[in-house]
Amino acid sequence: MSFDSLGLSADILKALNKKGYSKPSPIQEQAIPAVLKRRDMMAAAQTGTGKTAGFTLPILDILSKGKPPATKQVRTLIITPTRELAAQILDSVETYGKYLPLTATVVFGGVKINPQIKRLQKGVDILVATPGRLLDLHHQGAVRFDDLEILVLDEADRMLDMGFIHDIRKILSYLPSKRQNLLFSATFSNDIRKLAKTMVNDPVEISVTPRNTTADTVKQWIVPVDKKQKPELLAALTHKHKWEQVLVFSRTKHGADRLVKQLDKNQITAVAIHGNKSQNARTRALALFKKSGVRVLVATDIAARGIDINQLPQVVNFDLPNVPEDYVHRIGRTGRAGEVGQAVSLVSADEIKQLRDIERLIGRPLERRLEDGFEPDHDLPASNSNVGVKKSNKPNSGGYKKPSNSNNNGGNRKPSTKTNYRNRNKNKKPSSSGNN
Ligand code: ADP
Ligand code: MG
Repeated sequence: MSFDSLGLSADILKALNKKGYSKPSPIQEQAIPAVLKRRDMMAAAQTGTGKTAGFTLPILDILSKGKPPATKQVRTLIITPTRELAAQILDSVETYGKYLPLTATVVFGGVKINPQIKRLQKGVDILVATPGRLLDLHHQGAVRFDDLEILVLDEADRMLDMGFIHDIRKILSYLPSKRQNLLFSATFSNDIRKLAKTMVNDPVEISVTPRNTTADTVKQWIVPVDKKQKPELLAALTHKHKWEQVLVFSRTKHGADRLVKQLDKNQITAVAIHGNKSQNARTRALALFKKSGVRVLVATDIAARGIDINQLPQVVNFDLPNVPEDYVHRIGRTGRAGEVGQAVSLVSADEIKQLRDIERLIGRPLERRLEDGFEPDHDLPASNSNVGVKKSNKPNSGGYKKPSNSNNNGGNRKPSTKTNYRNRNKNKKPSSSGNN
């Protein structure tokens, strides 16, 4: 399958060629024709699957065939939770739209509003925005949506996590009812589906990360350990394996901050990102980590979702998430294209319930490896046997539903769905991967 057969115009194909893309990613293959047919869409896809190009390319095509925007009007609105993502999307729009006479701009909070008002004055074909600043601009009369043709909600689950639901509903109320809607989310929780109901119309549904399965390319194991020993164990593992870039997940914000201090004491440079930190502090932490000056990035689940870091060779679960699906998201951060990533979980006895939930979700037990000097005083109870086939510790065997994806380890899953296009691109053309 090549881009030529998807129905995109020559000017877009030229830009793709220039960028060095030879074939569409799985989500692009599905999304591009559907968007060109002007269908609404709900797509489950995580960062790195090529979704930005998946919606940007057909949108550019559609817009290039219509009329330019009138004063203050916007033809396509792309809403995204953070300014980093917003800036990246604008980058993509500019790259792919290089040979088209379209205009695009980005607006987000934390910077002066007046230059943004000016940029909107003549109208733009594509506006990328975070919710709060967009509302400000709308309330000031700087932007109008009478002619809006397409709405994109990117990383919708993260927007809900960050408390943007009211802002989004307000924005929706300002838009014309006849429009094309594209909704992207890492997962479709009930809340997302509820929002979708008020927003999309007979959508095409696309999913590129099979829910609740873990990549075959990720080597996973757990280390049983007493809770109070975890920081020392993490430091010891980091030294022993000479990890230079580790993403460590912490369930709580406080835990993340505390861990950074404890690692510091062990001569391991670390930074934390979580929801209590300002956007600036998060951007700085991420930049430090990306530049490789810092070995460990400690993140909470919410902060990690949607941050744009290349996938990493090593992920550590300092503690297990309460929601088993988060485990799948977390380890999805490792496993480079064609390489094997590693995900290690430090598990103390009090986390047995979370562990069992995770094993049931992924449909297999996780291998246990003890570390010398860190053998726990409090034994981690055994996992359920026959995980994923039959739950053994409940009397009513009849009521148990097998996880829907428990057979997916068998090899009938398309491996291409896990391809990380960012890395692939990066490997090929180190100088032109726009978003790092
Ligand atoms: P997402 O929005 O899912 O994070 P992007 O569309 O931003 O994904 O793409 C992620 C990375 O992969 C970017 O660096 C982009 O340049 C690259 N990429 C996207 N589509 C392709 C493709 N078809 N071939 C090669 N690289 C691609
Ligand atoms: Mg993206």
